[in-house]
Amino acid sequence: MNALEPALAADKQGRCLNCATPLTGPFCASCGQKARIHRSLAAFFSDLVAGLFNFESRFWRTQPMLFWCPGDLTRRYVEGERARFISPIALYLFSVFLMFAALGFTGTGMDGFKVNGLAEIAEVSRTELAELDRQRAEAVRAKAPTAELDRKIAAKREEIQGMDNVLNGRFSTQLDNAPNDAPPWLVNGLKKVARDPRQFMNHVQEAASKYSWALIPLSLPFMFLLFPFRRRHVFDHAVFVTYSLSFMMILILLGSLMVVVGASAWVPWLLLVPPVHMYRQLKGAYGLRRRSAVPRTFLLLIFSFVALSLFGAAILALGVLE
Ligand SMILES: [Zn+2]
Repeated sequence: MNALEPALAADKQGRCLNCATPLTGPFCASCGQKARIHRSLAAFFSDLVAGLFNFESRFWRTQPMLFWCPGDLTRRYVEGERARFISPIALYLFSVFLMFAALGFTGTGMDGFKVNGLAEIAEVSRTELAELDRQRAEAVRAKAPTAELDRKIAAKREEIQGMDNVLNGRFSTQLDNAPNDAPPWLVNGLKKVARDPRQFMNHVQEAASKYSWALIPLSLPFMFLLFPFRRRHVFDHAVFVTYSLSFMMILILLGSLMVVVGASAWVPWLLLVPPVHMYRQLKGAYGLRRRSAVPRTFLLLIFSFVALSLFGAAILALGVLE
């Protein structure tokens, strides 16, 4: 056969070019490779396009289901529709990548302590303080008691001071008089953080993206707690948790995009989404009735909070000890 021949059929004995299994159809029954492959520049690029298109078509099939019927998606994937959807772990890694890219790009993360949105909140607090001052002046003129207003003003001042400290990267240096019984490694670590908070935040963000996969094994035991009397394979729970976490990351991504387009005021409403999403996913994935899905949603919310706190503590610790 000519080396420049563009189409390579199966070899002369009609066997697969990849694994030499005798061919019986357009694909190898053993390894899945196409019977007819090409050796041309067009084939070189069409492999890439086919790969992208395959991912894209599955992506657009998976994404709407992840949003609107996550329970269906989880159940169908578990029950065998694997080629149709993007696998939970691929979707998870993709979401983690997108989320960190967006947080870095939009600066919604802690970028040199320019905490997006915090300046606006501090501004609102300043307006509130001005209003309190005005009320106090009025009360003084009317010879009314001002103790309650004084207390509110002091609290508001402290609140603004705290936000200004964060915005300016100033942290209190009370660590110098840390209690004597605190372990030295901890005190030294915290002092390092206070000296260079920016470097600390970089370490934390690095650790968070590097160990983001750990959220999945960390969440699995909680799923077994959620169904103590049902025998479920760990695979089912892993699919559930991984799709769920992927969705939550995309939600964070949406939140950061909302901040960018100046819709920060709507961001708190996003907090209502996770409970609804968890309820719908639990109900659909495990075929639950409402009366058993509702209490499990509450438990799952608590468990998520615990898992996230454990993860956060570990990440902060890694940032301190780095
Ligand atoms: Zn083969």
